[in-house]
Amino acid sequence: MMRVELLNVPVDSLTMEQCVERVAELIKAGGPRRVITLNPEILYRAVQFDHTLLELINRADLVTADGEGIVWAGRVAGLPFPERVTGIDLMLRLVERAAAKGWSIYLLGSAPGVAEEAAANLIRRYPGLQVAGTRHGYFKPDEEAGLAQAIKQAAPQLLFVALGAPAQEKWIDRHIEHLGSMVAIGVGGSMDVISG
Ligand code: UDP
Repeated sequence: MMRVELLNVPVDSLTMEQCVERVAELIKAGGPRRVITLNPEILYRAVQFDHTLLELINRADLVTADGEGIVWAGRVAGLPFPERVTGIDLMLRLVERAAAKGWSIYLLGSAPGVAEEAAANLIRRYPGLQVAGTRHGYFKPDEEAGLAQAIKQAAPQLLFVALGAPAQEKWIDRHIEHLGSMVAIGVGGSMDVISG
């Protein structure tokens, strides 16, 4: 796998298709897995002041170049990325693959009702899609353990987390080791778009 360093932050230099293949490999290999779609805001934060964020990006199994800003920065640094791989595009491609392969998905985050509507739209768009569960993203700290337990029991292959960046990346990093075998990915406002 082609991984480069952009301002000391690792980013995978892969096409969308290669990212989808990489996630398929991670699911096949099993274990708790993290995917980060790296946009300029996260990169800036990690480089400038947020060491926790920088460390967890370094632990990720896949870091995609999310957005023109990253692709541009890569070009300036002499590290051309083949294309941008945004959260929503990657999510839709993975959900399509999930429906074809029989992987189940779990949607966590966004306002109450949004994840359910997004799930209904995805099932309409990708018939046969298995949705293992949905849950909104406005929970209290003391509800987190129960939520993690519910996700573990639902045992999806793909967990999409929409809590906004970098909260979602930190949530995934805190919990993924206890959730069992799944690939977790932060998707920001994607569920709002898909539910709309
Ligand atoms: N969100 C949430 N819980 C929170 C804060 C935010 O579920 O405590 C959701 C919010 O409803 C929205 C998403 O996280 O659906 C963040 O979207 P935004 O576009 O702000 O994130 P970005 O794409 O900029 O990371």
